[in-house]
Amino acid sequence: MPAELVCFEPGCRARYRVTEVIYNCTRCGGLLEADYAEWEPDAGHMKALWRSRRISNAPLDQSGVWRYREMIPFVEDFRSVVTLREGNTPLLPAPKAAEYGGLDRLAFKHQGFNPTGSFKDNGMTCGVAQARRLGMRRVACVSTGNTSASMAAYAGAAGLDPLVFIPHGNISYGKLAQALEYGARTFQVEANFDQILALVRELAERLGIYLLNSINPFRIEGQKTIMVEMLDQREWHAPDWIVLPGGNLGNTSAFGKALRELKRWEFIDHMPRLAVIQAEGAAPFYELFHSRERRRLATVEHPETLATAIKIGDPVSWPKALYEVTESCGTVEKVGEQEIADAKAIIGQCGIGCEPASAATLAGIRKLTAAGTMARDADVVAVLTGNVLKDPDYIYRYHTGQLEAPHGSRIRPTFGNQPVVVPNDAEKIAALLA
Ligand SMILES: *Cc1c(COP(=O)(O)O)cnc(C)c1O
Ligand SMILES: [Zn+2]
Repeated sequence: MPAELVCFEPGCRARYRVTEVIYNCTRCGGLLEADYAEWEPDAGHMKALWRSRRISNAPLDQSGVWRYREMIPFVEDFRSVVTLREGNTPLLPAPKAAEYGGLDRLAFKHQGFNPTGSFKDNGMTCGVAQARRLGMRRVACVSTGNTSASMAAYAGAAGLDPLVFIPHGNISYGKLAQALEYGARTFQVEANFDQILALVRELAERLGIYLLNSINPFRIEGQKTIMVEMLDQREWHAPDWIVLPGGNLGNTSAFGKALRELKRWEFIDHMPRLAVIQAEGAAPFYELFHSRERRRLATVEHPETLATAIKIGDPVSWPKALYEVTESCGTVEKVGEQEIADAKAIIGQCGIGCEPASAATLAGIRKLTAAGTMARDADVVAVLTGNVLKDPDYIYRYHTGQLEAPHGSRIRPTFGNQPVVVPNDAEKIAALLA
């Protein structure tokens, strides 16, 4: 399978060998995308083959990413692959959340069930496979949290040296704890995300470190399999809408690419529409999408949201995401901190739970159905991106009425659930429960 990297800019389309260590087009600076020009998998055959791999004990078949390896054929030698059995995440119907969102039915594709608790694992297994294939010894990323947790784990498993750079004091403890536990050398830099990215790019070039940030086109390839697995679970019936939170917009790019390819190769008969949800304080893509010209994204200088995984003011993958959302006849919505917090509590009450950024999906659905953009009887899948335990501090504060929005206003505990202090006395507790 001849894979190549191709520049995403329509006016450029420069092509590069898949073994070149580049992150952007050297001619125009554009984003790169993996391209499999001659590849035409047979849908019927692939569906049967992928299904049969579910009963295999081979590590690659047990991975919810590499099981679908014909969708991501950029590696030739699978010995460079390290799998922690990523993917394999459930598709969970949630009637209570559906009702809250104004829908007849809703299912969550929960990427929080991944080995390190977020969808970053789907991409990272591919990014690390590429690092090994290129013979790189050290890998690095700048991260709001989940990328560093995931990279640390996969680099550890692959015997690579992981270097994590994070903005000082701007990350949830659960995620930082994971990076430390998985053995990443972790640097907290006194600068914002974009400044640190520039710094790390310089270091990468100087020291021959492989960058595993979200523009890495191989991570995007891995994240495509979230859509493939979801459709496999639905017997290849494409939903009407797929809803996901948007930060750096790598996942939006990956989902769009996957669905386009699956449509082209006749795995599905129609394109689902993508609905990307941003937090109000970090919504540059929302502004772009609803601007008249949709020409250039205006950076948000000081992005603010408690949903730290989508606290991004300058999303690197916006050109791809804009193309994919437009192609799918999709939309972009934004939601406030109170809306995210309440939606998250509802997802918790379904017995499902997720981290704050993931709950933006349900909050967005509620808005989109109220506006009539999304029909009540639409067939909707929302992707929950991260695990409930990623940010327990947020949860405790919400339920006890101590959660504060970025500008100091209190979040109301609409669905709060306070722990109650009681005496060691059965009589009194029974009275309380009556
Ligand atoms: C990374 C992340 C996001 C944002 O995804 P992008 O691809 O950057 O848009 C959302 N939620 C969680 C939990 C994440 O880890
Ligand atoms: Zn280019």
